[in-house]
Amino acid sequence: MLEINATETLQEGSIFGQITTMDHEQLVICHDQATGLKALIGIHNTVLGPALGGTRMWPYATEQEAITDVLRLSRGMTFKNALAGLNLGGGKAVIIGDPKLKNEAFLRRFGRFVESLGGRYVTAEDVNMKTSDMEYIAMETRHVTGLPQIKGGAGDPSPVTAFGVYMGMKAAAKKAFGSDSLHGKKIGVQGVGQVGKYLIDYLVKEGAEILITDIFEDKLKEVARATGATVVDPNVIYDIPMDIYAPCALGATINDETIDRLKCAVIAGGANNQLKNETKHGKILMEKGIIYAPDFLINAGGVINVGAEYYGDYHQELVFAQTEKIYDTCLNILEKSEKENIPAQQAAIDAAKARIEAIGRVKLSF
Ligand code: NAD
Repeated sequence: MLEINATETLQEGSIFGQITTMDHEQLVICHDQATGLKALIGIHNTVLGPALGGTRMWPYATEQEAITDVLRLSRGMTFKNALAGLNLGGGKAVIIGDPKLKNEAFLRRFGRFVESLGGRYVTAEDVNMKTSDMEYIAMETRHVTGLPQIKGGAGDPSPVTAFGVYMGMKAAAKKAFGSDSLHGKKIGVQGVGQVGKYLIDYLVKEGAEILITDIFEDKLKEVARATGATVVDPNVIYDIPMDIYAPCALGATINDETIDRLKCAVIAGGANNQLKNETKHGKILMEKGIIYAPDFLINAGGVINVGAEYYGDYHQELVFAQTEKIYDTCLNILEKSEKENIPAQQAAIDAAKARIEAIGRVKLSF
């Protein structure tokens, strides 16, 4: 099985080595001297449809870090879109640099690069990119989604993402505790940003006992005041006994340092790429008897939302109905994981691949 690390690099130095390992179709290097734009667009797989995935802007310390990120994230989008039942392939873009570099000319130049791919790649927002940034990109290309509602778009996808995470969490609770009720369950939410905040609203309604942590104290205090959640230090969230750990901040929080500290029965959260090493850490979770709801499965609400917008067929109630199906899909994947004695992450990847292979009449090598 292919071993993919969330943050460690793969075969540094050889671009073809890296895209061959993960079986990407295309890696596009974009550069514009005038605006200072440096971006990478990764197109992993387009069997199901155009490669849809957001653009992340980040001041990567090295080019290799950016390459690793775009390849890993675009591969993840292939699985996410396939498992969500979307007719979309997997892609992602990263812009290298300080988000302060963003302005109209910069974003429109990026939009022209997206346009040059003729629809093979469709962009949207991701870390450090907002719906308003998509407006500039949309001045140059039709192949962009996640526009503000005032511009006819579907707006911020986070509420739908949080709803899907909530559905996945309930399915995982059903598997772990025999009931999907979260009433009285002690749940630690790491990161009270867009997804975390909306997720907490659902948990409050169910009567869960909520612990919250974030690196921004002001945000924490605000959420604690509004919800009655208990604030915990970011460094101790891994050490506190709880029923469910919900990573909603950054990726790779399940790693060699944290995995033995976790004292929970379930992990279900919105962050992308939670397992630092998906093979190794997925297996350890299984051995420890922790039920893991694969991140790309349960955080797909956002892409379901922007996907509907892209296809010009946006109805909020249908988007929520499709996102609700994450409950059944998650439960099926967890059953499959148990039956086949394979980590849930692997069971989810296998199911995504099976859909692509069946529809595309192809045999995948990744
Ligand atoms: P966000 O930036 O609004 O929130 C992230 C929060 O995490 C912030 O409040 C930040 O301060 C906090 N944080 C950062 N490092 C932390 C740490 N070490 N400990 C505790 N808190 C920390 O982002 P978001 O849109 O809520 O997304 C959260 C995660 O979900 C990301 O991994 C993102 O890629 C993923 N995701 C988001 C969506 C979406 O629709 N927004 C969709 C799919 C996946």
